[in-house]
Amino acid sequence: MGAPDPSPEITAYAHARRMALARADRSCCCPAKPVVMTIMPMASAQGEPIELFLCGHHYRVSRRRLAEIGAVVFDGDGLPLPVDPWPVEVGAFA
Ligand SMILES: [Zn+2]
Repeated sequence: MGAPDPSPEITAYAHARRMALARADRSCCCPAKPVVMTIMPMASAQGEPIELFLCGHHYRVSRRRLAEIGAVVFDGDGLPLPVDPWPVEVGAFA
């Protein structure tokens, strides 16, 4: 069980993009401020990673599905988040 670790390329990309996440005023999913960056398992037509900025709420409700399709999620420090259980006490993101 457990998702494979993100590739070094994806990890480097997420780290480089962490400031864009920090500066973003709204998520891709809704007007809330994003707290995580999701890198989708497929690349764009240009071969670039496809990223989604998600708020805490939409991350929580979609993280299982994201894990199922092989997306990887990074926090605001550009560090990969574990797929399995989101600690209950992190309700502060709501
Ligand atoms: Zn949202």
